[in-house]
Amino acid sequence: MEKTHVDSIAQDVGEVLISKEEIQAAVERIGKQVTEDFKGEHLIVIGILKGAFAFMADLIQAIDLPMEIDFMDVSSYGTSTTSSGEVRILKDLSITVEGKSVLIVEDIVDTGLTLSYLTKVMESRGVKKVAIATLLTKPSRRERAVDVDYIGYEVEDKFVVGYGIDYAEEYRNLPFVGVLKPEIYEK
Ligand code: 5GP
Repeated sequence: MEKTHVDSIAQDVGEVLISKEEIQAAVERIGKQVTEDFKGEHLIVIGILKGAFAFMADLIQAIDLPMEIDFMDVSSYGTSTTSSGEVRILKDLSITVEGKSVLIVEDIVDTGLTLSYLTKVMESRGVKKVAIATLLTKPSRRERAVDVDYIGYEVEDKFVVGYGIDYAEEYRNLPFVGVLKPEIYEK
């Protein structure tokens, strides 16, 4: 049989960390929890571009509440070495969040810089409540404390791709989350 493009990029992955089925299980679990926790409320679901778009698309279908969705794009300049903590908004919301209940949807919480900044931004805009859902978290990398309300899976400090998450804009269309083989970086 002819090898597809997805088959060929899947071969760059040395280890599958979270399978398609495990992702779906996390989506269902978090969707149910959010539905219970925000019962009777109208939710604003905010996806952080680009990595969270796949998780966001699945998660909203598992949340049984009235909602609006929007997206933000941010870039973080803080690293463990520079740790400037600077986060810049590249694309802002097009709807207002004042007085609303907000769920921020992220792919990975790593140092926590992005989400600690975004939580402050939401609070400064007068939201009623802000909660965070992330597919993955790397607790060992945390530099800023972040209250993450809904977590898909905890992962080790490894660079992951797939299910919306990229390396050099590639691998977003893999249906699972995995770790790239080292030779891909060393190319
Ligand atoms: P933080 O501000 O928490 O350090 O940054 C989180 C962001 O870093 C994620 O949304 C993601 O864009 C990026 N990131 C962290 N770990 C990984 C990883 O393993 N793979 C990829 N592709 N991006 C990552």
